[in-house]
Amino acid sequence: MSFRVLTAEFIHESNTFKKGSTDLAAFRAETLDLGQAAIDRFGDVNTELAGFLDAGRAADWSIRHVVSAHATPGARVSRDAFDHIAGLICAAAREEKDRLDGILLALHGAMVPDFCEDGEGELLSRLREIVGPELPISVTLDLHAIATKRMTGEAQIFVSYKTYPHVDMRETGRHAGRLLDAAMRRSIKPRTLRVQVPMLDEANAGRTDVPETAALYESAARHEAEPGILAVSINAAFAEADVEEAGATVLVTFDAAVAGAEARAKTIADTIGTRIWEGRGYVANTFLTPQEAALTARDFDPAAGPLIIADYADNPGAGAYGDATALLAALLDAGADRGAFAPVIDPEAANILHNHREGETVTLDIGGKVDPTFGGGPLRLTGRIVKLSDGTYTGDGPILGGITHTFGPTAVFRVAGIDILVVSLPGQMLDLQQVKAFGIEPEALRYLVVKSMQHFRAAFEPIAGKVIVCDSGALATPRAELRPYGRVRRPIWPLDRDFTPAVFV
Ligand SMILES: [Zn+2]
Repeated sequence: MSFRVLTAEFIHESNTFKKGSTDLAAFRAETLDLGQAAIDRFGDVNTELAGFLDAGRAADWSIRHVVSAHATPGARVSRDAFDHIAGLICAAAREEKDRLDGILLALHGAMVPDFCEDGEGELLSRLREIVGPELPISVTLDLHAIATKRMTGEAQIFVSYKTYPHVDMRETGRHAGRLLDAAMRRSIKPRTLRVQVPMLDEANAGRTDVPETAALYESAARHEAEPGILAVSINAAFAEADVEEAGATVLVTFDAAVAGAEARAKTIADTIGTRIWEGRGYVANTFLTPQEAALTARDFDPAAGPLIIADYADNPGAGAYGDATALLAALLDAGADRGAFAPVIDPEAANILHNHREGETVTLDIGGKVDPTFGGGPLRLTGRIVKLSDGTYTGDGPILGGITHTFGPTAVFRVAGIDILVVSLPGQMLDLQQVKAFGIEPEALRYLVVKSMQHFRAAFEPIAGKVIVCDSGALATPRAELRPYGRVRRPIWPLDRDFTPAVFV
């Protein structure tokens, strides 16, 4: 008999400091694909869905894939958007209820709707009401999840990514699928134990590609080979979500049918939690000021490849506005030419440029329009339009390979030897095609600014002569104290520095 499995992807990382709302239009602009359309687009690339399908093929399931819904990290999710997407998943669960053997969900873990603090917990509670307490539910999470008590109370299995840059989505999906299959066969009785570490987001110091933090994730993978230990997930959390349960967590999914597994799971979680806490002062990046980064760019010799400058604080992938100008202003002041700056998310400027033709010289205000207090105000610039585009690109790197997205109306605007990629829709720089598709060839440049914290490394580090990281003071600045926290439980590192957590809870 083949198992009947419901699958869905509902992914959003919410920056509660960001103005506005992530509405249904924001999901539609990025990804809101139903059933077979989602499978056609994401079923054989590096996604959780592809991993779910791999697991399903191996075990001969009958799968109903409801929806793949992702929006770029942004402001809290509107009630309409949440209810619509959660409603699709719940309606399918209600329809399938009598013949359903399991549910497999790809969630982020840091989705904050405008009516509650825990979108994933809310979705799981709604599903539980429909399918009852016993049906196996297996969940994948982003490494930046804020995994709440409510979430681990509602689903039995959790598996998070183990890489940052995230390059193991498909593998994570397979892992969660394998465990779901074992649970449906009743060869395991999975439960998930949760330990919280009072740190906002530095469980991996912002990356897993340096030895200090790679070791943490390698140890998690090693524990998964122990008897009765099914998955060990280290969630770095997401510092830009100001919610009560914000903070790093360790989740251990164990087999409650194996004697001693629960006690061992607790020991593993406590040990990893303690290691994370002890590493709290470790910083894996050197943050340059915009002026320091600009001078480095001006003087850089690109013989071995361009200088890649990460505008860390303005990462649209962390919900920053992606229109901060402090670094661009510094590059112009320094006279750093043969460069590119990608992107500036400014639909108004893109629209103005699209009212002209390629080759024309235009003067306009660029960037800094949403909240100039974070990363600088608009710059009045005169330059030449090098390229106009509808913004469509298809990735060819480790994260976006084979996936087509769009920046909406897009222009390459050249000012003083700097090609500025002006786009309409938000997007983090993850893939070389996000510049190459618009005629910007990184190898021909002295330097390239990418709005990204860490993900850019997967595709851009291999072609870089050198990588540097800049804190431009934009909304996702590593200086957490610049953001006005009000909800997160205190004390928490690094907002509070002089405390000892007695126990991890
Ligand atoms: Zn993430």
